[in-house]
Amino acid sequence: KFNTNVGQHILKNPGVAEAIVAKANLKPSDVVLEVGPGTGNLTVRILEKAKKVIAVELDPRMAAEVTKRLQGRTEQKKLEVLLGDVIKTELPHFDVCISNTPYQISSPLVFKLLALPNPPRTSILMFQREFALRLTARPGDALYCRLSVNAQFWAKITHIMKVGKNNFRPPPQVESSVVRIEPKLGSERPGVSWDEWDGMLRICFVRKNKTLRASWLGTKEVLAMVERNYRVWCAMNSVAVDDTVVGEEEEMEVDECPGDTEEEEWGGIMDVDEEADDRPSFFKEEAERVSKANGTKTKSKKKKTRVAELVREKIRKVLEDVTELADQRAAKCDENDFLRLLSGFNDEGIHFA
Ligand code: SAM
Repeated sequence: KFNTNVGQHILKNPGVAEAIVAKANLKPSDVVLEVGPGTGNLTVRILEKAKKVIAVELDPRMAAEVTKRLQGRTEQKKLEVLLGDVIKTELPHFDVCISNTPYQISSPLVFKLLALPNPPRTSILMFQREFALRLTARPGDALYCRLSVNAQFWAKITHIMKVGKNNFRPPPQVESSVVRIEPKLGSERPGVSWDEWDGMLRICFVRKNKTLRASWLGTKEVLAMVERNYRVWCAMNSVAVDDTVVGEEEEMEVDECPGDTEEEEWGGIMDVDEEADDRPSFFKEEAERVSKANGTKTKSKKKKTRVAELVREKIRKVLEDVTELADQRAAKCDENDFLRLLSGFNDEGIHFA
């Protein structure tokens, strides 16, 4: 009866449903977004406490089920069911989000909520345990990754409850956890662009246990990408680029660190993350334009140019002199380290979006 391909694991323990709704500290004036109401086990409890529930459900059978459950009850008029994918749905204003989240959309949902112009005061969200631990991981923790840095950059995130798999029907393969997400507001909000920040973190976390020196200066693709972006910045700021050839490009030898792991190793959710973040930006279009104008020389070049040397020197300067982070590893860097890094790069005309 349930379609686990779209994450249909119904919460069958009423105690857990009660606890989740209690953790939201709902006010009678609150409008609540519920993602994936399913058969309505959370919905009925939220309706008792809130002014209105907007429930977005992908599966028409489930939408019909929750509507039927409320039929003839006084709370019925407080429930609005929207049929569709919550990630693609334009959401009206709401104060609080509560979700026993279909795990396939964990990452896009978090970032959709945080990117809203008027984000919800609190979100109480059930996730796979590992995803929840990644969201809340701190520098040095084994699960600390780009997701941790990004999410905690925009919000305060707390792990509030463990939920065993036998509380669901059918039981999922892994354990779950409930987290609270409270977005940073106003002056707490960091004044950097999301695309720049995330673009830089992607490079830092490709191998999170490698030194930043190795990640940035020891990887041809990274150097080529930074050079492309630098050229775009020069074009936009009328800065001349010196394309004089100064020699052949040498192969870099990079020491792999023992215990070096790739961030994306656990698949699933990170794949979705990649897709969700891969939005076109003005910068990328501009990069393509400049690259075409240069006869796509940057793609398959074997010669080392002066501008390539300049870019390498800029990166070295930022890592070694400006931030002194060259010997650090992303796995141990905190938000302030990354902020200093981004500001150092930006001061040198190096951008990431
Ligand atoms: N809230 C119910 C409960 O706690 O018992 C059901 C939770 S179940 C884990 C997830 C629900 O989300 C399912 O009803 C599923 O059909 C729905 N769903 C899956 N993907 C969705 C999406 N992209 N947008 C909205 N709903 C979705």
